[in-house]
Amino acid sequence: MHSATVKEKVPLLSEEIARLATRPLTFMEVCGTHTMAIARHGIKSLLPPAISIVSGPGCPVCVTSATDIERAITLGDTPGVLVATFGDMIKVPGEKRTLGSATNVKVIYSPLDALELARKSPHLQVVLLGIGFETTAPLMAAAVLQARREALPNFSTLSMHKMVPQALSLLLSDENSALSGFILPGHVSAITGRKYYNFLEGSAVSSVIAGFEPLDIMESLYRLVQACMAHDCRPINNYPRIVKEEGNTKAMETLFRVFEPCDTSWRGIGTIPLSGLALKEEFAQFDASARFDLPTREIPEPKGCLCGAILMGKALPDSCRHFGTACTPSFPIGPCMVSTEGTCAAWFKYH
Ligand code: SF4
Repeated sequence: MHSATVKEKVPLLSEEIARLATRPLTFMEVCGTHTMAIARHGIKSLLPPAISIVSGPGCPVCVTSATDIERAITLGDTPGVLVATFGDMIKVPGEKRTLGSATNVKVIYSPLDALELARKSPHLQVVLLGIGFETTAPLMAAAVLQARREALPNFSTLSMHKMVPQALSLLLSDENSALSGFILPGHVSAITGRKYYNFLEGSAVSSVIAGFEPLDIMESLYRLVQACMAHDCRPINNYPRIVKEEGNTKAMETLFRVFEPCDTSWRGIGTIPLSGLALKEEFAQFDASARFDLPTREIPEPKGCLCGAILMGKALPDSCRHFGTACTPSFPIGPCMVSTEGTCAAWFKYH
C-alpha cells in the first residue's frame, strides 16, 4: 500500500477504535515479532486509554526454560559434541553462564547448516537445538528426514519446540484472567492456517490473526475491538495475503511425520501438557535427549527476574527492579532482555 494511504488510514482507524471501545479491553499479542512491531511503530500511543496490550508467551527464546538452557550448555561442554543453534540462544543466561560460553557452539541460520556441519565434521556429534513454534518445527522435521535419508550417524536434535494452542488454552483457563482478546501470530498462522484456532470459538475471548505493518496491526485491532464489542469469539483472519484457511498443509504434515506432542516446560509457566514436540520413536536415533546423558535438575529463574510473569501478561518490564539498571541488552539477566523479540528488550529500545 502507498505510504500516503497508510498515513491517512492509520489516524482514521485510531479514531474508530477509540469510538468503539466503550469499555476496558486487554489484548495479548502472542508473537515476539508483534511485540517488537507494536513497540517500534508506537502503536500503543495510537490507542485510547480503554485498551491495554500485554505480551504473551510468543517469543521462542523467552519461553525456553532455564532447565533446557542448562541442558544445551551441558551439551556444548561435552567433548566431541558441536551444538548448532540460532543466534539469540547463545546469549541467554543459564544458571551460571550462557550457552555462548560453552566449549563447542556454532551459530547457524538454517537447520540445513547443521546438516552441512555434520557432513563436514564426521568426527563430531552435531546437535541442532530445536526451539520455536509451529513455524520452525517443520524445518527441523525436514532436517531430521534428510539426515535419515543420508544415514548421517553424527546428527541429532534436542527438541524444545512448543505449540501455541496449548499455551492459549492455559491462559484461558485462568479464572482471574482479564484478557478480552488475542492478537494471533502471523508467521505461525501462515503454517497452521486459520482453522487451527477454531477451538477459541468456545471461549469468551475474541481473536485476530495480524500482520506486522502498522496498517496491518491497526486494522487488526479495529476488527478485534469490533468483535469484542459484539461478543464474537470466532477467530478472524486479518492477514489473508499470507494466512490461508488450511495453512501450509505440507509443512504441518512434515512436522507431524517426525514429531508427536509431549509435555514440556515453559519458562515461568511450568509444564503444559502436550504442548511440546518430541521425536517419534522411529526417529529416536536422531534424538539428542536419548543419545546423551543430560541433566534433569530443575534450574530456578534468575533471582528477581519477572520474565515468567511478563510472558503470562501479568507484569510489565518496568515493574522489574532490574529493568534498565542491572538488566540491559548488553548485560541481560533474563531472556526477555536477550531476545530481539523479547518484551524487555522492546521496552528498553522504544519506551
Ligand atoms: S528486565 Fe531483565 S530481569 Fe527483569 S524481567 Fe526483564 S529480563 Fe528479567
